[in-house]
Amino acid sequence: MIYIGCHLSVTNGYEAMGKTMCDFGGSTFAYFTRNPRGGKSKEIIPADAAALNTLLKEKGFGKLVAHGSYTMNLCASNSTTRANGFDMLQKDVERMESFPGQYYNFHPGAHTGQGTEKGIELIAEALNDTLFPEMQTTVLLETMAGKGTEIGSSFEELREIIDRVQLSEKLGVCFDTCHVWDAGYDIAGDIDGVLTQFDKVIGLDRLCAVHFNDSKNPCGSHKDRHEKLGKGYIGMEAMKRIALHPSLQNRPFILETPNDDQGYIDEIHTVLGWMES
Ligand code: FE
Ligand code: FE
Ligand code: ZN
Repeated sequence: MIYIGCHLSVTNGYEAMGKTMCDFGGSTFAYFTRNPRGGKSKEIIPADAAALNTLLKEKGFGKLVAHGSYTMNLCASNSTTRANGFDMLQKDVERMESFPGQYYNFHPGAHTGQGTEKGIELIAEALNDTLFPEMQTTVLLETMAGKGTEIGSSFEELREIIDRVQLSEKLGVCFDTCHVWDAGYDIAGDIDGVLTQFDKVIGLDRLCAVHFNDSKNPCGSHKDRHEKLGKGYIGMEAMKRIALHPSLQNRPFILETPNDDQGYIDEIHTVLGWMES
C-alpha cells in the first residue's frame, strides 16, 4: 500500500489539516511552510502541533511532506535572494522539529546563469550549514522539470548534491511524476526502467515520497504544468502502474493536481480503489 493525500492550507492550523485529510479519506498530506507571497509561516502553537502529532499516530498516517517556499532559491546569482533562501531553509528546518520524523521537501534551486556545477555547490553548502545531527526531519530534494536554469532535472544532479552533503543520511528525494516526465524520463512507457535508473544513480532507499501528478505536456517538454490524474500525457493506466509499483510501496503520495477539494477527494478515492482491486 501507499499513503495518499494532497496539499492542504495551513490557515486553520496544524491539527485542522489532519482532520481535513481524515474527512478526505487520505492518510498523508502536504502544506506550504510559508505563504508564497509574504514568505511568512503560520505560527506553531505547541498544543496544536502536539494534537496533530497524536492524530497522525492514532490514524496511522504516513509521513507528511511539508513543502518549502517556491521563492527560496539557495543557488540564485543574486546574493540577497540567496541569503533570504538560506534564512527560510534554516527556519523551516528548525520549525519542522515540532513535527518529529516528517519530511521537508524543497526545490533545489535555479542557478540563474552561474552554471549547474556552481549551483550544485551552493545548494550543498546551504544544506551543510543547516542540517544538524540531532534533527528528526528528513529533507527531500524534489526532482525538477528542467524549466529555465532549474537544478535537479536529472538523477545525476541530485546525486551530486547528496554526495557533497556531510549529513547525507538526513537527505532523500521527492519523486514528482509530472516533473520527472517533463524532464524526459518515460515513466508512462517504462516505469521499471526509470526506477532502475534511479536506483543505480541515487538508490531507491532515498526515494522517500512521490508528488503524484499527471502532466499537461509530452515527455521531455521541460514545462512543469501539472494535470489531473488521467487527463494528461502520462495517462490513467500509467498513473495506476506507478501507484501500485512494488518499489514505491509504503511511501506518501501527494496530489498536486489542479483540483478543488471535491476533485482531490475523488482522486484520493480513485487511488484507494486501485489498492483494493
Ligand atoms: Fe514542488
Ligand atoms: Fe511537486
Ligand atoms: Zn511542478
